[in-house]
Amino acid sequence: MGLTRDFFISLSQNKVLNGAAKNWGLKLGAQTVVAGTTVEEMVNSVKKLNSKGIAATIDNLGEFVFEKQEALEAKRQILAVIEAIHENALNAHISLKPTQLGLDIEYDFCLHNLKEIVSKANEYSIFINFDTEDHSHLQPTFDLLDELSKDYNNVGTVIQAYFYKADENLKKYINHRTRIVKGAYKEPANLAYQDKEEIDKNYLKLIEYHLLNGKFTSIATHDHHVINHVKKFVDEHNISKDKFEFQMLYGFRNELQLKLANEGYNFCTYVPFGGDWYGYFMRRLAERPQNLNLVVKQVFNK
Ligand code: FAD
Repeated sequence: MGLTRDFFISLSQNKVLNGAAKNWGLKLGAQTVVAGTTVEEMVNSVKKLNSKGIAATIDNLGEFVFEKQEALEAKRQILAVIEAIHENALNAHISLKPTQLGLDIEYDFCLHNLKEIVSKANEYSIFINFDTEDHSHLQPTFDLLDELSKDYNNVGTVIQAYFYKADENLKKYINHRTRIVKGAYKEPANLAYQDKEEIDKNYLKLIEYHLLNGKFTSIATHDHHVINHVKKFVDEHNISKDKFEFQMLYGFRNELQLKLANEGYNFCTYVPFGGDWYGYFMRRLAERPQNLNLVVKQVFNK
């Protein structure tokens, strides 16, 4: 299990394969978890979700951005997605990673790119979520959020429950719309809980606190134990359904996604798309090797 995870993580970080895959089109079963390579394909996927009462948070995939040109191209694509959301009246917003907009190149350059995106989205009342990455990018991501929050209120970020400081950060951003997750990266023991039970416990604690005190809470998980706990908690505390939503990744637990939407909960699917799908797909395989079934089926169903 550990070996499989490390294997797929190393594949996800392979720059040669990441580069090559851009010319492959969606392969290896990736089309079940990636909503197309073009804006047009993504719009069609989001329209299908919207027709089922499911909103979308759209992620224009991008990896290894170390050149200004690549960050500017990512910005151009995200601006095109914002236009597409507006033109097609999609029930959707944007998720982006600051590193994709140049955080590893230069902080001010990244800030400038983000400002353009947030300002354009603000004109159309579209929300922008800053996904959180590994610990080395966390404080700069919060700094970007602080800076942009001075002028805009259509921005928010993600709190990762495995960090000891998650509680402090959750409280700091209590007046922002906030996504709460368990946390996806491998983090050192001096910064983050390592034990799954401890992470799960902290995750529930943060969700409960935010549901009672926060603005709008996005509970992003595929864990039905957490979802069932939240359903019970909101009932017991008379928390209205318009105060929160559940989120899952595109292509994961589709039946449960639909069931929750049909039960009247706000549901938002995280919709990744774009030519740069390879690293994202390998990380999903690393997280849950059962997803390998997807690959096997694709390879044999030609
Ligand atoms: P796990 O802890 O992985 O699983 C718990 C249990 O749930 C499993 O034992 C199993 O019983 C069940 N389960 C889980 N997956 C499945 C499945 N596919 N099918 C059937 N049963 C299943 N992380 C970040 O660090 N930063 C981010 O910005 C970020 N954004 C995210 C946005 C969204 C919408 C989502 C869904 C996740 C995001 N993550 C992010 C990833 C997150 O931190 C976790 O790594 C990831 O969601 C796995 O944890 P989990 O809560 O889904 O459940």
